[in-house]
Amino acid sequence: MDKCFIDHAGIYDYLKNTTPPDAVELEEILSHARGLKGISFAEAERLLMVEDSDHLVRIADMARFIKEEIYGRRLVLFAPLYFSNLCSNDCLYCAFKKSNTAITRRTLTMDEVRREVQALVQQGQKRILLLSGEGLGKNALEYTVEALETIYSVKVGKGEIRRVNVNIAALPVEGYRTLKAARIGTYQLFQETYHADTYKTMHPSGPKANYLYHLTAMDRAMEAGIDDVGVGILFGLEDYRFEIMALLQHIRHLEERFGTGVHTISVPRLEPATGSDLSVHPPHPVSDRDFRKIISILRITVPYTGMILSTREDAAMRHDALSLGISQISAGSRTNPGGYSESDSAEQFSLGDHRTLEEVIRDIATMGHIPSFCTGCYRLGRTGHDFMDLAKPGLIKQYCLPNALTSFKEYLVNYATPETRAIGHALIEKMLAEIPSDSLRAKTAESLDQIEKGAVDIYV
Ligand code: SAM
Ligand code: SF4
Repeated sequence: MDKCFIDHAGIYDYLKNTTPPDAVELEEILSHARGLKGISFAEAERLLMVEDSDHLVRIADMARFIKEEIYGRRLVLFAPLYFSNLCSNDCLYCAFKKSNTAITRRTLTMDEVRREVQALVQQGQKRILLLSGEGLGKNALEYTVEALETIYSVKVGKGEIRRVNVNIAALPVEGYRTLKAARIGTYQLFQETYHADTYKTMHPSGPKANYLYHLTAMDRAMEAGIDDVGVGILFGLEDYRFEIMALLQHIRHLEERFGTGVHTISVPRLEPATGSDLSVHPPHPVSDRDFRKIISILRITVPYTGMILSTREDAAMRHDALSLGISQISAGSRTNPGGYSESDSAEQFSLGDHRTLEEVIRDIATMGHIPSFCTGCYRLGRTGHDFMDLAKPGLIKQYCLPNALTSFKEYLVNYATPETRAIGHALIEKMLAEIPSDSLRAKTAESLDQIEKGAVDIYV
C-alpha cells in the first residue's frame, strides 16, 4: 500500500514558525545558487518566506542570472492538442467536469486528430502536448496509443511532429509501459494541489478523487521505465508556499527512489472556466508578484529542470516569466478538441494569450529569445539520468544552442512570413557569433546553410 510522502504537519509547522532570512542569510543562500548546482531544499524553503520587496528583487536577479547561464536565450515551443473533453471527474475548477452541461462534448476521431495535426504542422509546430479529459473509460489508453501513432504518421510537405508529450489521467504501471512503448516524450500529470484535504474538496467524485493514487502516479510511470516525467501545481487552490514545499518533497521522494527528479515543472495559474465558479474566485489567488517569486525560486532551486508556462498567461506576464526561468511555453494554443482545424468554442478554460504561433515567435525573437523546436535529446536517448548528467553548465548549451538555431532556421525557411524571417535571421546571426567554440560555430553555420538549401531535421 502506497504511503503519503507529503509531510503536511511538518509544512504547517514550518510556515507558522519560520521567519524570513535576514539580508546576510539571504546573500549566503544566493551565493550558493550562483554555483549553478541548485540550492538545498531547506534553503529554498527559507526563500519562500521572503516578503521584503528589495529581497525579492535580489532573488529575481539571481534567477535571471541562472536562466541566462544555463539556458541562454533559448525557449522551447509546443502546442497542446486536446482529443476529448468527455470527463467522469468533477474537478471544481475545470470546464470539462462531468456536471458541466454548458459545453458540447466530443472525442475526435482519428481522421479529426489527423486534421488537427496537419493544421499544427502547417503552422510549423514540431512538439505536441496531447491531453484529454478522463471520460473514455477502459478505451482511454488504447485511444491514446492510436492517437500517438496517428500524430507521428502525419507528414505535410517537409514537416512532421517529432515529439509528443502526454498529459492524461493516472494509470497503473502496465498502462505506463504501454505509453512508453508508444514513444511518448514526457509523461505529465499535475497534482493540482498537494494538500490532501483541499484535494478532496476540489475533486469530489470520479477516479481522480483518489489523492494517493494521483500522488503516486509518477512512481508508477518511473517504475514502468518512463524517465521523463512532468509535474505541476494549479496555483490558486491552496497557499502557494505549502504547494512549493510539498512539490520539493515530491521531487526528493522520486530522487531517493529512482535517482532522478522530475524533467519538467508546469506552473499554471487558475483561469476562468465555463461552469466553474471556483475558477472565477480562486480560494488562494496567486498575485503577479508571488507568481514571479515562485518562478524565481524554482529556477534557483532546480536549475536543470524544465519549467513550463502555458498560454494561460497573458503576453506581459510571459515576458517577465521568460527571463526569470521559464524554459518552455505553449504558443498558438486551442484548448477545445478540434480547435485547430475548425472554429468551435468548448474551451477547457479561457486563454490569456490569443496570438498565433507566428506572432508569438516574432515577439519572442524581437525580445532576443530564440524559439526552439528542438527534439534532439529525446530522439538520441538523452533522457532521465543521461539528460541530467548532460545538463551541466556549458554542456546543455553545447547541444541546445545549435539545435535551437537549426530548428528555428527550419521554421523561418519553411513557415515564416518575410517580416518574421528577417527578424529571425538577424537573431540567428547574432547568436551564432556568440558560440565560443570555433569548431562548433563552424559546424552550426554549415547546418544552417544546409537548411537554407532545403535540408530539414538536422540536430546534434
Ligand atoms: N484530465 C487530465 C487531468 O486532469 O489530469 C489531464 C488533462 S487536464 C485537461 C490538464 C490540466 O488542465 C489539469 O491538470 C489542470 O491543472 C488544468 N486546468 C483545468 N482547469 C483549469 C483552469 N480553470 N485554469 C487553468 N488550468 C486548468
Ligand atoms: Fe476532467 Fe482533467 Fe478537467 Fe478534471 S481537470 S474535469 S479530470 S479534464
